[in-house]
Amino acid sequence: MSEFVTRFAPSPTGYLHLGHACSAFHVWDAARAANGRVLLRIEDIDQTRCRPEYEAAILEDLRWLGLDWDGPVRRQSDHFDDYEATITDLRMRGLVYRCFRTRREIAAAMPAGARPDEWGFTGRPLPASEEEKRLARGEAFAWRLSLAAARDALGPRYEQLGYIDESDGTPRRVAADPAPFGDVVLGRKETPASYHLACCHDDALQGVTHVIRGEDIREMTSVHALLQALMDWPQPVYRFHPLILGPDGKKLSKRAGDRGLRAWRDEGKTPDDLRRMTGLS
Ligand code: GLU
Repeated sequence: MSEFVTRFAPSPTGYLHLGHACSAFHVWDAARAANGRVLLRIEDIDQTRCRPEYEAAILEDLRWLGLDWDGPVRRQSDHFDDYEATITDLRMRGLVYRCFRTRREIAAAMPAGARPDEWGFTGRPLPASEEEKRLARGEAFAWRLSLAAARDALGPRYEQLGYIDESDGTPRRVAADPAPFGDVVLGRKETPASYHLACCHDDALQGVTHVIRGEDIREMTSVHALLQALMDWPQPVYRFHPLILGPDGKKLSKRAGDRGLRAWRDEGKTPDDLRRMTGLS
């Protein structure tokens, strides 16, 4: 049997809640069924929102759930140099540019009715002299992946972008369409990596063969397929699990969904109770 390596990759921006537990159960169940390994990765690149006490709580909560990981924990904030090197590589190939537009400017340029987190901004690099002036003034910027340049670089491979989706047990190839996301941010002046970049970099580096994630990240997987093609990174197989439902099959209320696992634990719930609450038996 070929090796099966998956991962659980929470961000320590708060306590793990039932949504995380649901993902974690899916990840560990799959690894157990395949006699594979689970890696634990702490996705703490956004240092303004992540806190060490939440990281410690994640490890504690997973242990309480009876979910043990293999090998050392990878903490992304320890590896900013690796992500920066990837951006430099893409820059050297003309695939990434500095975008100085502020969030407010981008919001103002959006078509009426568009939502900021769903609108795919596309831009272009500034002339070198203008860029120098702004850098000298210390202006903030984002490193954006140019969709147009990526399309040119990949040629016919762009149209064939896709990945294997194994959500229903049968592997099938699905097409990826990164276009709606526009020129995604891969890093910022003050944070040298975005989620997309760090996640795909680490999945490749850590030899992850299967990514098991919620349905809410399905669309974004198109962006990941694009990055994998540009960087020639090996591509994992993907499984998307349904988002958490209450025991009645309905979407959980905001309160129940947000409540930390430790609050349920302190109330006397067991890990098996939580399994049931996430809709798993
Ligand atoms: N840190 C991401 C999250 O917590 C990981 C998701 C993924 O790439 O599977 O949503």
